[in-house]
Amino acid sequence: MASMMKNILENPSTAVIFDVDGTLTDYAYGETHAQLELDFSDRERADATNIYDDSCRRIKTMHRYIQSHGIGMIACLSVEATHRERWKLEMLWRNYGIPSDRVFFVRSSEEKVAKAKEIAEMLFDAATDVVMVDDDISTLARFQQETGILTATPMTFVD
Ligand SMILES: [Mg+2]
Repeated sequence: MASMMKNILENPSTAVIFDVDGTLTDYAYGETHAQLELDFSDRERADATNIYDDSCRRIKTMHRYIQSHGIGMIACLSVEATHRERWKLEMLWRNYGIPSDRVFFVRSSEEKVAKAKEIAEMLFDAATDVVMVDDDISTLARFQQETGILTATPMTFVD
C-alpha cells in the first residue's frame, strides 16, 4: 500500500466507501469463468442465480480492515439494476458485518459520484477524508475529476 494512502486509511477519522462487486467480493462465482453475468445469452438464468449465497466468500484483507476501522466510518455503494439488492445486503452482513443502513444502491456507475457525495454529507460530515474504493478505473477517474473524495483500489489494501 502506498504509504500516504496507508496513513490516510489507518486514520480513524477517515471515512471509506466501498464498491461491492470486485471490491468486497471476488468475481469468480462460476466453476470455470470469472463472472456468470458475462454470459449475456442467458441473462435470465444469471438474474435468477444468487451469486451472493454462501459460496460468495469474504475477502479476508478487506474484512480485517473493516473490522479494525469500525463500521461507523464505513459505507458501501453498489450498482444494482436488478432484484438482487436483498442478496447483496445479506452477503455484506454475513461476510463483513455491514448493516443494510450502510449500503447504498445506484442504477448505473455514472450515478456513483452524486450518491457518494450524498453519503459523505449525510454520514461522514466530520470525517477528515473520504476515500472511495473501487475496482473500475472509469469510476475512479470520475471521482478524481469531479469530487474532493480520494480514491483507492482493492489492491491498495494488499501488501
Ligand atoms: Mg466493482
